[in-house]
Amino acid sequence: MKDKLSPKKREQAALTRFPTPLSSKTPLPKEEKIEKIALHIRSIMEILGLDVENQSLKKTPERVASMYVNEVFSGLDLDAFPSVALFEQAADPTQSHQMVFTRVSLVSFCEHHLVPMIGSACIAYLPKDKIIGLSKLSRIARYFAARPQLQERLTSQIGDSLSTILGHNNVAVCITAKHSCVIARGAKDESAETTTLYTDGLFYTSIEHRKEFLDMVYAGVVPE
Ligand SMILES: [Zn+2]
Repeated sequence: MKDKLSPKKREQAALTRFPTPLSSKTPLPKEEKIEKIALHIRSIMEILGLDVENQSLKKTPERVASMYVNEVFSGLDLDAFPSVALFEQAADPTQSHQMVFTRVSLVSFCEHHLVPMIGSACIAYLPKDKIIGLSKLSRIARYFAARPQLQERLTSQIGDSLSTILGHNNVAVCITAKHSCVIARGAKDESAETTTLYTDGLFYTSIEHRKEFLDMVYAGVVPE
């Protein structure tokens, strides 16, 4: 049986304990956002000394503005939180516990430089009486990734959101990502990778659960 999230729970799931610092101003309508951002991008290009009337550059301001609002920062819109349904599951009598584990690819944008961080997230939970559709785990991860982010915050937001949705905190999230701001500027280190780990409930208190999760993260396979 399907159990849809109530509007209140959906809102809580989108906000989380480690919130994105959102402005208290009322958000502008989408079209107005795109129009205003495009004007600013155009100014930046002009200040940099580019000919914004050049055939190749002419549409860049609108293209960037639309990409920000409709794609890479679309997760700033709280209403864009994916619709999630939980399914009742019959417990497997042969299992003392079961883990649901999924690995999804992620692209987010570092909030200090507004350039991409690219990697993957491993997300796990221990199902009790309810399970969540696997595709929803990637949708939740991608929703929070579509914001200017800190990798630490992104990891916690996915974990917190999943806990709110499931109604318990047996949740773990591990993200490994390469940051363009470390590769292309500053340290210029192409090999640097950052891993962040969120564990709560049994994944925090039980060494076995934590180990099982991390074995799957690093092996990429289901253990025997
Ligand atoms: Zn950065």
